[in-house]
Amino acid sequence: MRKPIVAGNWKMNGSGSFAAKMCEQINLFAENLDVEVVLSPPSVYLSQVQQAAKNYSAAAQNVHFAASGAFTGEISVAMLQDLGCQYVLVGHSERREIFAENQQWVADKVAAVVDATMVPILCIGETLAQRQQGEAHAVVKQQLLSAISSLQLSADQLVVAYEPIWAIGTGETATPEQAQEIHKYIRGVLAEQLSAEMANKTRILYGGSVNAETAAELFSQPDIDGGLVGGASLKIEDFKIICSAAANI
Ligand code: PEP
Repeated sequence: MRKPIVAGNWKMNGSGSFAAKMCEQINLFAENLDVEVVLSPPSVYLSQVQQAAKNYSAAAQNVHFAASGAFTGEISVAMLQDLGCQYVLVGHSERREIFAENQQWVADKVAAVVDATMVPILCIGETLAQRQQGEAHAVVKQQLLSAISSLQLSADQLVVAYEPIWAIGTGETATPEQAQEIHKYIRGVLAEQLSAEMANKTRILYGGSVNAETAAELFSQPDIDGGLVGGASLKIEDFKIICSAAANI
């Protein structure tokens, strides 16, 4: 049994008062919910969100792979550990595309996060052009393997988020069938790389314009174990509906 996860990625949105309200409401809402709820605020609010956490976990949106040094503006895994943070988003397409993070950096970040006993939420996904050229499988396989192939992982040390880039922040959602097809493929790659048992236990989230209307059908697919939610995670009532949809998996 894979416990579903719904992770809210606030990106560069929110405020101290928004964080306080969200934490309070999610603590109440998630008390008896059989879903792991994760809140991923901007780093300046991470301590606040982590300290308030009763019935959810906190995720950093980014981390640097070096232990320390002259990396102005960056945050290390030890600093996240200090906060008690459990998850870290790694390889989000906005980091890859806007901030030019390459696959080696993504792999180094995954390794640093795992080494620090936190759990990477590893984001992978193809562009629209790659999908149209029939390259979606090759792209996600390459992204996944380049990030994990040097590691010995158990299922609780990794969460994968399949996020087709053409569906992020666009209002365009993959159909449940499209998403399921790739999720099943990703699970197959994990089985080849690690083991069938590990693949069966690893949570694979879908991300890309998930909202209160689309969540239930997406989450009803057999290989979709919840969602990584951007825009809709800023609307508390919608986010609750999405979390409830995951509880019915
Ligand atoms: C995301 O940021 O990971 C994401 C999926 O965003 P959105 O839900 O807004 O498409």
